[in-house]
Amino acid sequence: MGKSIFYSITTRRFNVRTKHVEYLVKTQEFYNELVKFYYDLYLDHLAGEQLSSQELLRALEKLTVVGRDKQEVPYLLPWKKVPLYFRRAAINAAVAAGKSYLMRNQQQRTRQFHQAVTFYKGMYQDMTESEVTLKVWNGEKWRWLRLRLSGNKIPENAQPMSPSIVIKSSGIELHIPVKELVPDGRNAKMRMEADEKICPVIFTNQDTCVICGCMTVDGKLENPNFIRGGRSYENHCKDVLDKIEKSRQASGDDGNCKANQKYWLKLKNLNDFYSHKFSREVIEYCLKHGAKILVLPEYQETYSKYVMTTVGNWSPLHLSGQIREKLKYKAWQEGILVLEVNEYHISSTCSVCGGKVKRKNLEYQCENGHRGNAYLNTVRNLGKRCLNGFGKQVK
Ligand SMILES: [Zn+2]
Repeated sequence: MGKSIFYSITTRRFNVRTKHVEYLVKTQEFYNELVKFYYDLYLDHLAGEQLSSQELLRALEKLTVVGRDKQEVPYLLPWKKVPLYFRRAAINAAVAAGKSYLMRNQQQRTRQFHQAVTFYKGMYQDMTESEVTLKVWNGEKWRWLRLRLSGNKIPENAQPMSPSIVIKSSGIELHIPVKELVPDGRNAKMRMEADEKICPVIFTNQDTCVICGCMTVDGKLENPNFIRGGRSYENHCKDVLDKIEKSRQASGDDGNCKANQKYWLKLKNLNDFYSHKFSREVIEYCLKHGAKILVLPEYQETYSKYVMTTVGNWSPLHLSGQIREKLKYKAWQEGILVLEVNEYHISSTCSVCGGKVKRKNLEYQCENGHRGNAYLNTVRNLGKRCLNGFGKQVK
């Protein structure tokens, strides 16, 4: 194989125990003031510049921090005693938030941030599965605080990276990103040259909400796989939404009161549970059948905007957004590559002859008389488009 070494990065969540929750809260408040300061500075003075995040970091530091040359700076940081890597974490967060603001039109600028603090190097020490020491702000000065951790593991041979403290009403969590070696780091071209199998995947708003198959380089689709459970997800969500609606009617509030928080949490958990379940099933399918490339339909922006809005937030099709995100990192961890292929016309043309198709329930029929399962037709078109993109001769 190639000389390059490839990694995946995933986040492990740990429960935190400490006597000094208030220090963590103070640290986060301080951090978010810094984020806000740099966010405004970025948008007011550097928004038009074509700079990388690294260059922006340097530019923002030049504007706010006196360097070795002792020259005055135009927007001196209004706080003293800000550790270097605390500041850099805040600048990175501010730049990310600023870029996201610039990309979305007609949104209000953020007035107050509530972001979790990432502890870069110099801000944490001695991190294991059971404890970590963080540099925290107690309102007056910086000090080291030892925290107990529980509830998760750092995999063997994995490299833990800069952790974040996430303050929730249910408790405090430490999120540790871990870097692991990926078993197969070949790029798409190398895999195609080795005639590896691909696995095209489509998503629907039906009970059978994920459909995939294994395609060989000559375009033959084997072992079609219909993953069910879309209706079950939808019904579970509907139960919870009904409860929210009932409590809304009973209390006459906007549905965001404390009693309803647990329901929203429940919805989020359902979303997490099902997207994990479906994505795991696809990955296991790929491993079982030896598919080395996962092919997902790349939606047009208009599709995402209109179709996703139409189907509603708690529908199987809407869940596909979460499934895709999870597929991307799970595939990478297993040495499977994810490609996104333009989905234009994949469901409205015949995978045998390219003619126009008509659908009748689950069946399709094309203008030249080919017929079959409409979803598999879409899966075939997606897989063939991927193979064609790599110059494979597909029938
Ligand atoms: Zn046809």
